[in-house]
This record gives sequence, structure tokens and C-alpha cells, in this order.
Amino acid sequence: MSQFEELGLSKPVLRAVEKSGYETPTPIQAQSIPVALEGRDIIGASQTGTGKTAAFSLPIISKMTPGLQPQWLVLEPTRELAAQVTEEVKRFSFYRPLNSVLLHGGVGYGEQLDGLDNNPDIILATPGRLLDLIEKGHMSLSSVKYLVLDEVDRMLDMGFLPDVRKIVNMCAAERQTLFFSATMPPAIQTFAEWALKDPVEIEIGERRSPAETVKHAFYPVAMDQRDELMLALVQKTDYKSLMIFTRTKKEADSLHFMLTSKSDAKVAVLHSDIKQNDRTKALAGFRSGEFDIIIATDLAARGLDVSGVTHVINYRVPENAEDYVHRIGRTGRAEKEGDAFTLLSGDELDNAKAVEVFIDKKIERRKLDGFDYIYTALLDEQPPKPVRKRRPPAPRRRR
Ligand code: AMP
Repeated sequence: MSQFEELGLSKPVLRAVEKSGYETPTPIQAQSIPVALEGRDIIGASQTGTGKTAAFSLPIISKMTPGLQPQWLVLEPTRELAAQVTEEVKRFSFYRPLNSVLLHGGVGYGEQLDGLDNNPDIILATPGRLLDLIEKGHMSLSSVKYLVLDEVDRMLDMGFLPDVRKIVNMCAAERQTLFFSATMPPAIQTFAEWALKDPVEIEIGERRSPAETVKHAFYPVAMDQRDELMLALVQKTDYKSLMIFTRTKKEADSLHFMLTSKSDAKVAVLHSDIKQNDRTKALAGFRSGEFDIIIATDLAARGLDVSGVTHVINYRVPENAEDYVHRIGRTGRAEKEGDAFTLLSGDELDNAKAVEVFIDKKIERRKLDGFDYIYTALLDEQPPKPVRKRRPPAPRRRR
């Protein structure tokens, strides 16, 4: 009997899990699935890439009954995440006759209205388009008895919380709500108390640490040599699939231009000024291996699951230390190893320190062999001393 069978999931879901090739539940799955099957509300906090999607989808699909439409609503902060979760939900409901529809902005209404005409059991949506369709009278949420609010802190950052509140109010009062947020600032705690009934709190690992399987390095470099070093790193690194993060859209576009003109790599770019169609193509192409590199702003960093990302390079140290964890979460997913490199210039030392404090780990400073460095004092910095672990106290002697 597989360990998934012991969790109490339905037969069709177990078959779908087997088809996905999952053998052992991840810790968040092992803890959430029995609780969700019991019907309890959940507040879940977990590192990125830990199998959260299956943790909420498998028990809900196991419990869904035919005839009540729509019955399950998943809210996601970005279109890309909503699309990704839709694919997983389709995979997990492969052996059940359940219809789903994906609703997000940035595209026409036609296909989404057709999808609604099919009486979907499952709705996966971003808040803006969902409210828009409800307000235009195309659908109602009064039959929704399973509600998943995913990446709630991201929704807060993006200003969606008032919309999410309205949406929660439109779902059935007798419902089960599963709530996931990597961080719990006070605004989210208050929101959770309002939206959930007697929730079970599930937290896996330290909230702050990126996947344990990732190796981190800072590459100190003079500001003027950033692009040159980036090009050299890309050329000398033995990556299979590489994500590069920038702070701004302008940086993303200019790096895209530089790498496509000066290297042989096939490079895609992803940020919010790029049309939805092209964003979808960029991601699909990166997933399929048509592009070896994708350059993205933080828009793409949260939650996106691209399997087999071997390397992440940060063009600049993120201004917000938490973003470092989300970016790095793209590699080393599901226990695969990954490397995370970050270019570091003199004006980013405070940000670098903040990242180290946030993840509670000193990050190695590395130089690229054979690169013709312009001198900067950063290059003389001593490698950090390893963090000393406190010894456990010696056992007391009996007198
Ligand atoms: P998530 O955190 O839901 O984005 O999942 C991260 C990655 O782990 C995805 O590629 C999943 O397909 C994969 N995954 C989730 N659960 C398992 C499992 N129990 N065994 C193996 N891979 C898994």
C-alpha cells in the first residue's frame, strides 16, 4: 500500500496520484490531506515548491460530489499561477468527470464565457476577472462549498484583499476554506480570522528558509561590469534550464537584448508589460525546453513551478529579502538540487546582508575563474565564517 493510500483519498484520486508518479506524500501533504478530508478549515504556511497544490487539491477532488456547480473555487494572485494550478487540478481529476474553467484578465471573454456555459464544477481565477464576470451576471458563487485562497500575502501585496473579501462573502456560508500564505502579517491574520472557522494551523519547516537543496553564491562585481559578468556566467555555467531575475522590466528587456545578441542561448522574457499571449508562449516555451533561459521580474517568482530549473541568477540582489526566497524557490524544487547565483555590487551590500539575516545563512562570495575583473573593494572581502552551531548543553552530572 502506498503512503498516499493511507491518507484516506478516494480511489480515482489515488489513481491520478499514481499516474503523476508521486510515491511519497511531501510533509505538507501528509499533514494537510487528512485534516482537509475531515472537513476542517486550514491555514497553511509552507516553503515554496513543497507540494502545496496537491495538498489542497487531492482531498477536495476526493470529496466533490456531482451536480453542484460551481462547487470549488481557487483564487490565485497571478494569471500564471492560476494557469499552472489549473493544469495540476486537471491532472488530479483525470479519473473524475469534473469540468474546470480558468478565469483571468488580460485576454478576451469568449473562451471563458464558453467555459462557464459548460457548468464548471471547478473555477480557478484571479480576483479581478472573477468579480467582473459576476458583476456582469455571468455566474454566481453561492454554490461554492470548497474555497482555496492561495498565496494570500501576495494578494495583499497586489492590493487584491478588498476584492477577495467580496468574493469570500459570495461563497456559501457553510463551506470549507483552505488558506495559504507564506507570511502572516497582521492584516492577513485579521483576514484569516474573518474568513476561516476554527482553522487547523499547518506550518512546514521554517517559513523563511528556501529549499535546503539549493546552493547559494554571491558574485561581487563592479557596477559597470554587471552585464559582462552576467554574459560570462551564462556562457561558463553548465545549466540545463536557467531563470534570471531582474528588479525592473527595463532591466529584463535590456538583458534579453544583450543575451540574445551576444550568446547562443535561446532566451525568453516575462514581465507585466508583455502581452498575455506572449507571456503564455514564453512560459510554455521555457517549460518545453524551446528556451534555455527565461528572464523575469518578480511577477514570475511566486509559486510558479517549472520543473527542472537547474539555476537561478539574480541580476541584482532583491530589495525585499523575502523576494530572494521566492526567486530561489524556482530551483531545487521537490528535492532536486539547484544553484542560485546573485550578482552583488557596492550599492547592494545592505540588501545582501538583509537576505543573509532573513534566510539565517551566510552566503559564499565567489569569483568567476578567468574573468577579467575591474578592481572593486568588494572583491577583497573575506569569505564569511561558517555559522557556528550551538552545542547542546552537557548532561548534568548526578551528585
Ligand atoms: P507545488 O509546491 O505544489 O508547486 O509543487 C512543487 C513540485 O513538486 C511540482 O512539480 C509537483 O508536481 C511536485 N510534487 C508535488 N507533490 C509531490 C510528491 N508527493 N512527490 C513528488 N513530486 C511532487
